[in-house]
Amino acid sequence: AQDKNRKKQGLAKLTFEQIGGQESAKLELREALDFMVRHEEISKFGIRPIKGILLTGPPGTGKTLLAKAAAHYTNAVFVAASGSEFVEMYVGVGASRIRDLFKEARTRAAKENKENAIIFIDEIEVIGGKREGGQQREYDQTLNQLLTEMDGIYSSETPRILLIAATNRKEMLDSALLRPGRFDRHIQVDLPDKKGRMHILELHAQNKPIETNVNLEKIAEESFGFSGAQLESVMNEAAIYAMRDGLEQISQAHLSMAIDKVMLGEKTDRQATE
Ligand code: ATP
Repeated sequence: AQDKNRKKQGLAKLTFEQIGGQESAKLELREALDFMVRHEEISKFGIRPIKGILLTGPPGTGKTLLAKAAAHYTNAVFVAASGSEFVEMYVGVGASRIRDLFKEARTRAAKENKENAIIFIDEIEVIGGKREGGQQREYDQTLNQLLTEMDGIYSSETPRILLIAATNRKEMLDSALLRPGRFDRHIQVDLPDKKGRMHILELHAQNKPIETNVNLEKIAEESFGFSGAQLESVMNEAAIYAMRDGLEQISQAHLSMAIDKVMLGEKTDRQATE
C-alpha cells in the first residue's frame, strides 16, 4: 500500500488530455473545478465553495488520474492518501494522520507558493463507512476528524482546499460525508465504452513500436468490459510478447494474445481469493 501511495503522490503533471474516454466525468469535474479557479466571482455571488468531490466507479477506471489532472488544472499542490493505510492503525492514529494530511496540504502550498491544494483520498469507504446505531466503530475518530477538517475549510483562506475522494462502494458511505458542504458533488467514473477503450489504447500505444497495419479498433472491440488499467496491461503484455518473439514491433496477434492473458489473469486472481 505504501508503494502504491508513493506512486500516487507523484508530481501532479498529468493533464486531462492524458486520460482516455471518461468524457462526461472530465466535463463534470472541470465544471466543478472552475468554482475553485473562479473563486472571486463565486464569492461575489455568495455561492458556497465546493469542498468535496466524490468519484465513484469500478477499480482501474482512472479516478486517481482524474484527481491528479484536477490538481494540474487548478495549479494546486496534490496530497494523497488511501483508506487502506488506516487499516490496523491504533485508535487515535487515524485521526492524527487526517490532521497531518491537511497540515501537509497547507505547508506545501505555502512553500510552493500555490493558492490551491487538492487532497485525494482513495478507498474512502474504509474510513467513511456507515456508522450504525451505537456500534463502536474502529474508524469513528478518523471519520470525525475528517468531517471536522472539512468543516474548517474556508474559502477566504489560502490555500483553498478541495477534497477529492474515490470509492467503488458509494452505498457504504456514511450519510454525514454526503451532506451539503461535504462531498456534495458526485461524479460517476464508469468502465469505458468502445470509443473510450480505443482512446485509452491509443494513449498507451504512444510510446510503443506498433506495426502500421494493426487495427486498434478491433482490439477495442475485443476488450469489452476492460477497465483503463486492464487496457494499459494489454499494451504492456503485447510489448512483452513482441520482445520475446525477437521482433521490433507489436503485431495484431500480440495484442489479441495479451487480451486473453489479461482476461485469464483476472480470473486466476479471482479464483485465488475465493
Ligand atoms: P483504483 O480504484 O483501483 O484506485 P483508479 O480508478 O484510481 O483505480 P487509476 O489508478 O487512475 O485507477 O488507474 C490505474 C492505471 O490504469 C493508470 O495509471 C493508467 O495507466 C491506467 N488507466 C486507467 N484509466 C485510464 C484512462 N481513462 N486513460 C488512460 N489510462 C488509464
